[in-house]
Amino acid sequence: MLHKLPALLFLLILISCNKDKVKENDYKTAYCIVVVMDGARYSETWGDSLHVHIPYMANYLKNTGVINTSFYNAGTTNTTNGHAAITTGYYENNLDNSGLELPTYHSYFQDWLKKYPLLLNSAWIISSKDKLEVLSNCKQNKWKDIYQPKTDCGINGINTGYRSDSITMCHAIKTINKHKPNLLLINLKDPDYFGHQNNWNAYLSAIKTSDYYIYQLWNLIQQDPEMAGKTTLFVTNDHGRHTSNFQHHGDDCDGCRHLMFFAAGPDFKKNVQLSQNRSLIDVHATISEMMHLPNFSKGKIMIELFE
Ligand SMILES: [Zn+2]
Ligand SMILES: [Zn+2]
Repeated sequence: MLHKLPALLFLLILISCNKDKVKENDYKTAYCIVVVMDGARYSETWGDSLHVHIPYMANYLKNTGVINTSFYNAGTTNTTNGHAAITTGYYENNLDNSGLELPTYHSYFQDWLKKYPLLLNSAWIISSKDKLEVLSNCKQNKWKDIYQPKTDCGINGINTGYRSDSITMCHAIKTINKHKPNLLLINLKDPDYFGHQNNWNAYLSAIKTSDYYIYQLWNLIQQDPEMAGKTTLFVTNDHGRHTSNFQHHGDDCDGCRHLMFFAAGPDFKKNVQLSQNRSLIDVHATISEMMHLPNFSKGKIMIELFE
């Protein structure tokens, strides 16, 4: 009997360690949604103290989550790079921005589908810009062409052109209602699109419309019996716009780098504003942590968000 004691002790220690680990990682989040408001400059979002162009987030959503005023794109400040930093956890600075090249590294969507290969409709990329379909795949040998999320990008997939954000939102709402995706990334292109057209009023109004869409989305989730209380939302941008000229972006000026950051969910603090230096790849690390995925990220888990 005595000789069995060390083995028994070892087993007990093992069980208690495991218990600690489960407890430590026991998040309420089962669904993660990232909304990327393409190319809205910080000075027109949280950087404006009156929040004129984001009234819904500033007046209704703010109390439900965390704002970080020091959040950046620390890589190349264009659309594909910014989005790929979120989905892969890497800044890949030379990645083509026109939909001609897949990101090198695999995404958290692929990690998820590797873990749950039968949940075919549990991971979605829904985007106004068709070129963002590249986010569903990668060049990495063991990951290329497998475990790919569903995509609904542009008019009808890659190389078919951009579509309006109103259509993207319609599709996102339908997909949420039908499939309750555990992982969803939404790209809203209109702020960037009207910025490039040098149309200041349309640019501002696109930010305002996106703000309303995000509010609608949050309400939809709160009314969903399955997703309410289990869904975490991240709202950010892929890049900003030049400080001196709102029409373009792509360098490392503060206007291009500084992004909005808002996150709300059952595991996060409420009604808090932080100024912790963070960047896009940290969204990847944080989602991987909450969804119990292996973390291949160059980013860091944003521990300051958690309660
Ligand atoms: Zn742009
Ligand atoms: Zn710039």
